Amino acid sequence: MGFVGRGLRTIQPAFIQDETASVTGQCSTSLIAARVMAYNKPVLSFLRRRKESHVAPYLVNPGHCPVCARDVVFSSPDAWLRDHYLCSNCGSIPRERALMTVIESFFPTWRELAIHESSPSQRGASKRLSEEAPKYFASQKFSNAVRGSMVDNVRCEDLEALTLSDDSVDLHVTQDVFEHVVHPARAFKEIARTLKPGGAHIFTVPLVNKSNPSAVRVIEDGEGREVHVLPAVYHGNPISDEGSIVTVDWGYDICQAIMEACGLFTHMIHIDDLTKGIRAEYIEVLVTVRPR
Ligand SMILES: [Zn+2]
Repeated sequence: MGFVGRGLRTIQPAFIQDETASVTGQCSTSLIAARVMAYNKPVLSFLRRRKESHVAPYLVNPGHCPVCARDVVFSSPDAWLRDHYLCSNCGSIPRERALMTVIESFFPTWRELAIHESSPSQRGASKRLSEEAPKYFASQKFSNAVRGSMVDNVRCEDLEALTLSDDSVDLHVTQDVFEHVVHPARAFKEIARTLKPGGAHIFTVPLVNKSNPSAVRVIEDGEGREVHVLPAVYHGNPISDEGSIVTVDWGYDICQAIMEACGLFTHMIHIDDLTKGIRAEYIEVLVTVRPR
């Protein structure tokens, strides 16, 4: 769960074509190079490499990457920026940079905090958090391991039934995980139970339904069997060749769903900032806060 190339285009292919056409349109590499002549050497170097490969970027600009904390070039060869607008240094994608920006803004002392991330990737914000926060730990929902046990230094946890103690975690982090949870209300409740006062759940989840109500795609029949209410959609999952079934098409009403599940308020933050390489569809960052 929670990874690049997960096929979201198949859910909502209509995207920002009108808007992005005004950004780079179908410009040639040389025209784009002229436009950014005032930028720095890394951009021009990047464009030269692009010209050699005969591929004109859809969007390219210099900036400072919130994930790797370097001055870099952000570029995308494709209009679907969500998966293709990459950092030239760390390869991060927009939602990862948005998440890291929010963590830095809300919790600038994150390196000192107890951070639990469910289903992390091996790169992007997950890598940064794991490398710089000594109390960071990751978990995966392994189907063949006991909850709370360790599998290759990764803890086995089910978000719907965490083995973690009450008030034990400063930050829960999930990246594109909650569209795969069968009982999200249980998971939100578990996260609230295990958060320390003043802690938060900081997460991304594709809000594909936007202003329309969230739509449940999969329910459980009461005997543990998953029933498809809507046609099955899967996203890539690095720990399973079968992929992860999408259980909910979330909309902006997710904040109300979280409130009803666990009583906590959720901020919804949308960032559009090219200097940080943050522009794409479905990159809202949600921050559910447990008051002190
Ligand atoms: Zn980077």
